[in-house]
Amino acid sequence: MDSKERIARGLAVSTDTKIFEMRSGAAECAPQVFKQCFPGRKAAIVADVNTWRVLGKSVDSLFRAASIPTESYVIDKNEFHAEWRYVEMTDRIVEGRFDEARALENSTGYSDSPAEDSFRPADENNFVLVSVGSGVINDLCKLASHHHAQSYLTLPTAASVDGYTSFGASITYQGAKQTFSCPAPVAVVADLDVIAAAPKEMTAAGYADLAAKVPAGAEWMIADFVGSEPIIPDAWHLLQDHLDDLLADPEGVAEGKPEAIADLFEGLVLSGFAMQAAQSSRPASCCDHLFSHILDMTEHRFNGKLQSHGFQVAIGTLTMCAVFDNLFKLDLSDIDVESCVAAWPTLEQEQNRALEVFKGFPAPRLGYDQITLKYEDAEKVRKELTDLKAVWPQLKERLQGQVYSFEKMQRMFKIVGAPSDPSEIGVTREQIRDMFPKVQLMRYRFNLLDLAKRGGFYEAIVDPVFARGGAWEI
Ligand SMILES: [Zn+2]
Repeated sequence: MDSKERIARGLAVSTDTKIFEMRSGAAECAPQVFKQCFPGRKAAIVADVNTWRVLGKSVDSLFRAASIPTESYVIDKNEFHAEWRYVEMTDRIVEGRFDEARALENSTGYSDSPAEDSFRPADENNFVLVSVGSGVINDLCKLASHHHAQSYLTLPTAASVDGYTSFGASITYQGAKQTFSCPAPVAVVADLDVIAAAPKEMTAAGYADLAAKVPAGAEWMIADFVGSEPIIPDAWHLLQDHLDDLLADPEGVAEGKPEAIADLFEGLVLSGFAMQAAQSSRPASCCDHLFSHILDMTEHRFNGKLQSHGFQVAIGTLTMCAVFDNLFKLDLSDIDVESCVAAWPTLEQEQNRALEVFKGFPAPRLGYDQITLKYEDAEKVRKELTDLKAVWPQLKERLQGQVYSFEKMQRMFKIVGAPSDPSEIGVTREQIRDMFPKVQLMRYRFNLLDLAKRGGFYEAIVDPVFARGGAWEI
């Protein structure tokens, strides 16, 4: 199956995205795509200082030349991330209240406006957003468009994340990184000249975000096995059938070879389509991403700088590959189900543990809320473990066919220029170790660590990561 067929399949199962143009010089077709999707509407181009220079300015000229009423808003910040204040800023841009948007952009402190209050009825007089930028700008435009019951056009400037076509926007709200449900853009215009010329670290970050789908896929298999989140065939095959191929040329990505960059970008876009088909981020992330969410919530910086999503995810991905390596050394066919069931904590015990684990964290009730959602009683645990014992050899084989060894993943990251050790993003191995209890508890989604807690093999797969000879030996 070639790229065209894969994309056509992706568009066929996507709930929101209808047009995807990817080629060298594709930006030229943006005005025509805009007119087709949003006839008679006004455009507001949203960019930051860098993306304005590399693409926004020329898109602005193209739109004006095509007689589309156009305003441009350049976010004048060296560093900003997807937090609620900027969503409110982008909401004002949709409404054409540019001065208010600028005031919000320049305000300091934290906005506590309730998320629910931001919805507005559809209004033909509103501007349609044209996102020119990478992940953060795209997510801001995605959520603000949704607040106004309309879609938008996105022009990615780097192969740095999978969020361009994903369902949902990842935003920090009241201290917690959250994925807000909202539709993907109706149209994506990906100019490969611009994307290939992006800073190398951004492309390496995108490669790591795509590689995260390797352990994330294995964790989806586990959630499917326990019946918590069944695999959705459309979403699975669209991405996972081609993932190994799309990750196969880290050298080419590092060298900026056009075909390798096109494959990487396509992989990221297919991930987004898979999320649309599933209406959730399950096809694209699991524990591999939660390490990154903790770093976002604590505003982790290295050398004074926030670290990119993909670089943070690289470390989470490597860590989970190491955990899987340890899992494959176990024989779960001999689990003592009855003693595991006898040791299974009550909901109240788990809630208290969660409050303890998240004490002093910016979102202290996060673990409590999520474990309350995903807690299962002893009877369910008995059934899960009985099934696990019975099918372990087959399940293990499937998981091994999915996930890469730590060694292999680390080699690929070294080649592509993504972090291969936590120190490269300013995180210590002790910090990674201490994140594990939070990672297990911070999402309602069933993960490998949940299974390990049930079967009494949590320490057996986590501790060796940090022991002598382990991936992150301390
Ligand atoms: Zn991601």
